This record gives sequence, structure tokens and C-alpha cells, in this order.
Amino acid sequence: MRAFNFSPGPAVLPTEVLEQARDELLDWRGSGASVMEISHRSPSFVEVATRAEADLRELMSIPKNYHVLFMQGGASAQFSLVPLNLAPPRATVDYIDTGHWSQKAIAEARRYCEVHLAGDAGGSYGAPPQDELRFSGRACYAHYTPNETISGVEYRYIPETHGVPLVADMSSSILSQPLDVSKFGLIYAGAQKNIGPSGLTLVIVRDDLVGRARAETPRVFDYKAIADQQSMLNTPPTFAWYMAGLVFKWLKKAGGVRAIGERNRLKAEMLYGAIDDSRLYKNSVAKDSRSRMNVTFTLSDVGLEPLFLEAAGEAGLTGLKGHRVVGGMRASLYNAMPIEGVEKLCAFMRDFERRHP
Ligand SMILES: *Cc1c(COP(=O)(O)O)cnc(C)c1O
Repeated sequence: MRAFNFSPGPAVLPTEVLEQARDELLDWRGSGASVMEISHRSPSFVEVATRAEADLRELMSIPKNYHVLFMQGGASAQFSLVPLNLAPPRATVDYIDTGHWSQKAIAEARRYCEVHLAGDAGGSYGAPPQDELRFSGRACYAHYTPNETISGVEYRYIPETHGVPLVADMSSSILSQPLDVSKFGLIYAGAQKNIGPSGLTLVIVRDDLVGRARAETPRVFDYKAIADQQSMLNTPPTFAWYMAGLVFKWLKKAGGVRAIGERNRLKAEMLYGAIDDSRLYKNSVAKDSRSRMNVTFTLSDVGLEPLFLEAAGEAGLTGLKGHRVVGGMRASLYNAMPIEGVEKLCAFMRDFERRHP
């Protein structure tokens, strides 16, 4: 039996998608081979690849003047590839620091650029408001992390950068609600949270930002070279790409990002409600920055945490342990987590509190 898996990533995939992948694993479309075993340049795989891109474009209403790149290396590779591709040596780049992942991005950018800190959470768990942001006014781009996966902090707004290309690490929030892509210069996301299996990284980039890579940028990581070859400069992660395509189809069938966004809002509301109504559980994020994707909470009696995790596991609720750097609990409510999973988690939490008053 499948558990309700709240893992932060790699994360739950829709059961229907896994079933389809299972059914066609050995003999894909009557080819006598697995989709994993065929050339990425074969017409049938190229069709899978093109279809996936078209479905993603439709789901996110990606304007025509944006490229969609199917890359490897994870979001962490983009921490270096964004500065290498968008900024000349010693150029100034603006970053907003809201926690773990922004800090990782900043540390990497510092190896290539002058990083100007345009804002931070000021020591609290929250996203800084627009009027506290201080951009340098001379940056090649401004980078932020719309959803901090580890602390569970999410922006409720898109920062206004006054013409400076906005770059966003959307690894844990892409496709989770409607989004105006035209407000961004570049969006990147590792696939393993809301898209598909790990190994695939999506980059959505406005065409005027492509073709600026530094001379020393590895060719397989040069956005222009990748765009020119439809992300097939070398062998792409074909199975992950195929799986992402199945997830996009599933998402379209589920009503697209508007419907899934509404469902995500309900799921988060339900879980934060259960936390706020209790005396045992506590969430420390500012209310206006609470993540809909990653809900963090601690137990007022820390000693109960191992017991909580064990009992949850026995109840078929897995992946709830918080990140090692922050501790506590974290329930990730990505698109593929059904409402029933969150209902079951809330019921379990109430019951656990009753048994441990
Ligand atoms: C998971 C995550 C990353 C790291 O992704 P990798 O693909 O493992 O490099 C980076 N940023 C955010 C916001 C994440 O959630």
C-alpha cells in the first residue's frame, strides 16, 4: 500500500503517473523497448520531448519570447550557471536572502560576481516586504527564492525590480499556482518536487538574456547552446523528461495550475488550522509568509518528536522529519499530495495530541 508521503524532495508523484509508467515500462508504445532504452534523437522520443514542452508552456502560459530548457545538475548547478550565463566578471548582482537556499545561491554567486544584498528576513522567519528591499540600481539581475523549502517561507508577492531581470529559484513552488511568467527574466527549478523525478532541471528564460554567457562557461551549460539544440546538445535525462511529460498531462487533466492552486491553498489552510488550533504544535513563520508547499512545525515537548514520527509512520504518514539544519517537522504538500493525505495527517495530529496531553 502506498503511504501518504510528505517528503520535501524527491517527493510524491501522482499514483496515476507511476501506474502509467509501470504499465509501459518494458514495452513503450509497442516499440519492444523501454522509453529509457531508445535514442533521445529518435522521432518518438523527440515527440515526447516536444509534447512535454508544449504542455508546460500551456500550463504556465509561457510567452513566446521565453525559452524552456531541459537541463541537468539540479537547482544547485543553476546557482553557478545563472551568474556565468547572465553576468560578466565582477559585475554587480542583487540577491535577497530569506534562508538556506538563498544563501546557497549567494555563496555560489560570490565566486563569480559582486553580490549586493538587496534584502533579508531580518533574523525572523518571513519574506521581506517590497518597501524594505534595497536594490543596487546597477545589477545584471536580481535573484530571490520565492519559496524557502526548509523553513517554509513563501513570498505572497513578486518583487518589483524596475527593469532589472528578476531571477527566481522556484524548485519547490513551480506549477503550484497561477504565475505571470512575463514578470521574470529567468525561472529555474529542480524537477524532484513538483515536476517529476530528480535528474531534470527546468530553466525558463527570456530570449534577450540568452547568448551572454562568459567565454569559460562549459558549453553544455551555456543557455544559448542548449536553446539552439532544443536541450539535446548531449544526452538529456530522457526518463525524467518523459515522466515530467506525464506529470504535465496529469496536471492538465486536474484542471491546470488554477485548480491545483486552489487545492493547494485548501490543503495548507487545513494543516495550518490544525497547528494553530493546538497547544502541542507550533509554526514560527510570519503568517503572511507561510508556505503552501512546505509546512514546518515543532512540538512544544521536543522529547515527543521521535514518538510523533514513529507513530505517523505506523499510520502511513511518511517523510515528516524536518530538515537536519532546523529540526522539527515538515509536511510538504506538493501538487501530487491529495487532500485525503492532509486530512489524514490533521486527524493523526489531533489524535496524537489527545494521547499526549
Ligand atoms: C531542493 C531545492 C534546491 C536544491 O535542488 P537540487 O536539485 O538538489 O540542487 C534548491 N533550491 C530550492 C528552493 C529547493 O527547494
